[in-house]
Amino acid sequence: MIKIEPVRAFHLRFSSHDLVEPFKEFIEKVLVPKGINHLVLECNTAFVFESHPEISGKGKLTKEDAKELSETCKNNGIRLIPLFQCLGHQGWGGAPNTILKAYPEFDETPHVPLDAKWPDFFCRSWCPLHPDVNALAFDLMDELIDAFEADAFHVGMDEVYAMADDECPRCKGKDRADLFAKSVNDMYGHLVKKRGVEMFMWGDRLNDSDKTGYNPWEGDTFGTHRAIDSIPNDIVIMDWHYDKLDAYPSIGIFIEKGFTVIPACWFKTGAAVDLLDESKRQAEELRSEGKMPGMIVTSWNGWTKESFGKFVNMAPPSKESQEELEELEELYRTLDVITGKLA
Ligand SMILES: [Zn+2]
Repeated sequence: MIKIEPVRAFHLRFSSHDLVEPFKEFIEKVLVPKGINHLVLECNTAFVFESHPEISGKGKLTKEDAKELSETCKNNGIRLIPLFQCLGHQGWGGAPNTILKAYPEFDETPHVPLDAKWPDFFCRSWCPLHPDVNALAFDLMDELIDAFEADAFHVGMDEVYAMADDECPRCKGKDRADLFAKSVNDMYGHLVKKRGVEMFMWGDRLNDSDKTGYNPWEGDTFGTHRAIDSIPNDIVIMDWHYDKLDAYPSIGIFIEKGFTVIPACWFKTGAAVDLLDESKRQAEELRSEGKMPGMIVTSWNGWTKESFGKFVNMAPPSKESQEELEELEELYRTLDVITGKLA
């Protein structure tokens, strides 16, 4: 019998031309020895888009950089999956990103002040019903797929809260689950049906908070979760839980609905191990081990030359160590422990 390699994935935000060399060193000296075989590279608007120069933000990640990173990954058996945040996370707080600055007509909530902050406002979304928004999104996706020579694409879509706004002439009064599903299906139509790549997304907006007991970040209290029954189940779901919970019922729910689900942890080792063990248990119970093929370790620190270097030179912290570690040290330990468990 052929043994199918477990998915051992790592996520990071990456946006800088100047960091390509230290990043390559990090891939070769940290991720490769740990057996990472999937790399989710979140570049969003930091890529230098040739089709839409008006979108390229502060980062300067070029087509040549993408090719270099793609080659480094291919040479080391790593599948590189570009991530571009669709629908939500179009900026931070009231501040719009470059998409909404260039195309303010796509903003779902143009009336929200630029200096709005959590808890008044989380962040902006594009309007899923604006007739021109998908054409732009598809152009940007196409450029990333081509530049990274990718056979998979991650559309983000976590934490979308600005939806069906009362002041949006198109979405007002509409059902949030319908709008969310439409947006997912639009992306699917382009990525999977047209481009033939595999589609990945975060799972939180599809988790029913009432049913799962999740908080409003990991689950939905707002009306989007019913979209789970209106989207294709060959989208791969990355279901994130960064703190230890009593239970993670969404893993089984995704599997029962036919999705492949990859649990996502962050730096906390105990929480990560618990989520992986519990996810494996649920997949085994449902006799669907293939539907839970591995795990993704996410990182949300701002990567710099120093932090890449720190990892390259870090001695693996003891797996049994109970001492308090700083975030990056604990992230390293989590990477070590999780990839070890998925060896
Ligand atoms: Zn709208």
